Amino acid sequence: MPDFVAAVDQGTTSTRFMIFDHGGNEIARHQLEHEQILPKPGWVEHDPTEIWERTRSVIESTFTKTNLSVSDLAALGITNQRETTVVWNRRTGRPYCNAIVWQDTRTDRIAAELERSGKGDVIRRKAGLPPATYFSGGKLQWILENIEGVREDAENGEAIFGTTDTWLLWNLTGQHVTDPTNASRTMLMDLETLAWDDELLSFFNIPRQMLPEIKPSSGFFGTTRSDGPLHGELAVTGDLGDQQAATVGQVCFRPGEAKNTYGTGNFLLLNTGHELVRSKHGLLTTLCYQFGDDKPVYALEGSIAVTGSAVQWLRDQLGIISGAAQSETLASQVADNGGIYFVPAFSGLFAPYWRSDARGAIVGLTRATTNAHVARATLEAICYQSRDVVQAMENDSGVKLDVLRVDGGVTANQLCMQMQADILGVPVSKPVVAETTALGAAYAAGLAVGFWKSTAELEQNWNEDRRWQPSWSEEQRAAGYAGWQKAVGRTLDWVDVN
Ligand code: ADP
Repeated sequence: MPDFVAAVDQGTTSTRFMIFDHGGNEIARHQLEHEQILPKPGWVEHDPTEIWERTRSVIESTFTKTNLSVSDLAALGITNQRETTVVWNRRTGRPYCNAIVWQDTRTDRIAAELERSGKGDVIRRKAGLPPATYFSGGKLQWILENIEGVREDAENGEAIFGTTDTWLLWNLTGQHVTDPTNASRTMLMDLETLAWDDELLSFFNIPRQMLPEIKPSSGFFGTTRSDGPLHGELAVTGDLGDQQAATVGQVCFRPGEAKNTYGTGNFLLLNTGHELVRSKHGLLTTLCYQFGDDKPVYALEGSIAVTGSAVQWLRDQLGIISGAAQSETLASQVADNGGIYFVPAFSGLFAPYWRSDARGAIVGLTRATTNAHVARATLEAICYQSRDVVQAMENDSGVKLDVLRVDGGVTANQLCMQMQADILGVPVSKPVVAETTALGAAYAAGLAVGFWKSTAELEQNWNEDRRWQPSWSEEQRAAGYAGWQKAVGRTLDWVDVN
C-alpha cells in the first residue's frame, strides 16, 4: 500500500491539491485562486474551464515540488464548493456557459414561485430544503430556459449537469457521477431513497438524463486517465461536498457532534446519525455522508452566506484593510463595537431566516463611528450569525452544545474566535490540522481502499491546537445579542422579490 492519500479541494475562491499521510498530517499542497465573475448585481459566476485548468496546475505543481508521483498515492478524494451548477456537452466536453455559483441570486423569482404554488412544502418534505436561490435545481432550470441550445441538447442526452465535483470527476475519469451529499443540495434528490425524484424534477422541468449517477461518498467513482494531470491511473474513491467533508475531517462521526467552518460563508453541521431530523427552526436537513454499503448518516445544517467574504468586502470594496488578517489589528483598536451592528445580508439571509428580501445594513452609526468599529462589527457579525444557527440547532435537537469545533480561514483570527466564545458562551476548539475539508475527502477516499481501516482509527488523528474560553458575563451576552436581533430586523423586506 502506498504511503499517502491525496485530495482535490475545489472551493469557492480557490482550488487546492493536498497530500496526507496515515496520521492525517499534511505532506504537501498547492493552491490557486480563480476569478469571481460578477456580471450584474446578485450574479456570481465561475468559468468551469478555468477551474479545470487550475485543478490540473495544482496537481502538477504539487508533484513537481515534492518529487512525489501517482505511485505514492493509495487513492484520490474530491471535495467541492456545493450547489454551484455546471452544464456541459457530453461529446465535446465544453461548458455551455459559466457556472452559476451558490451565492448567485438570479433565481429568486423561481424560488418565490415554488413557494407561491405550494411546491415548497413538497421540496421541504422530500429534499429537506426550503426553496431558495442557494440550491442547484433553480440554477439548472435557469440555464435550461436562458442558454440557447441547452434544452434541446438536454432532451437528446448531450447536455449534462453536475456540481463541480462531477465536473472534475468527468474531466479526471470520464465518469458522470456524484455522491449523495452533493446531490442533497439540488432540491432534486429524495433524502430517504438517495435517488433523483421524478416529482421534484418535474417542478424544475429538468430531463432526468442530464443528471449524474449517485454513488456512496466513500467508494469507487472511477480511475484517473493516464493522460491527465496525475500522469497515471489512480482510483478516485471519495467525493463529499465541502461542508460534509469538513465534518468528516473533524471526525464528527457520532450523533450530537458538530463543527463550524468559517470560510467565504459559515456552515455549521450537526451529525444526527441515521435519523433524518426535520428542522422546525430554519435549518437544512442534509446528507452527512454515506460510506460504502453502510446506512447513510444525516446532518442538520445551518448555512450562513456571508462571513469571511464580509472581511473581503472590507478589503476590496471599502478599502479599509489591505489584507484579511488586518481585520484583527484594526478591530483591536477599539474595545467594543461602539453600538454599531453590521448585518452582511448581501445576498439575502440564509439560515435560520431564509429571507431573500433582506439586504445588508450597518446600523447604529454615530459621528464617533470609525473604521475600527466597522471592522469589529464585521467580526462580530460572523459570530452573531453563528449564534443564530447554534440556537436553532439546540432548539431542533434539544441538545446543548458543550464545545464548538471550528476550522476554516477565519479561524486564523484570534480576536474573532475569542468573540465567538464570548457571544456563544461555550468554548471554541480548533484542531491542529485546520484543512479539515481536504482531509475529510482524503479520509473518505482512504477508507474505501483500506488505507484507513475504520472511523475509530481516524478519531485518533484529531488533536486540539487551541481553545478559547468565554469571558463575557451573561448580561453582556444577552445585551449584545438583543442588539444583533434588532439589527437583523432592520434588514428584512428591503428588496421586492415577488
Ligand atoms: P473558502 O474555502 O470558502 O474559499 P477559506 O477557508 O480559505 O474559504 O477562508 C477564506 C476566507 O477567510 C476569506 O473570506 C477571508 O476573507 C477570510 N479570512 C482569512 N484570514 C482571515 C483573518 N485573519 N481574519 C478574518 N478573516 C480571514
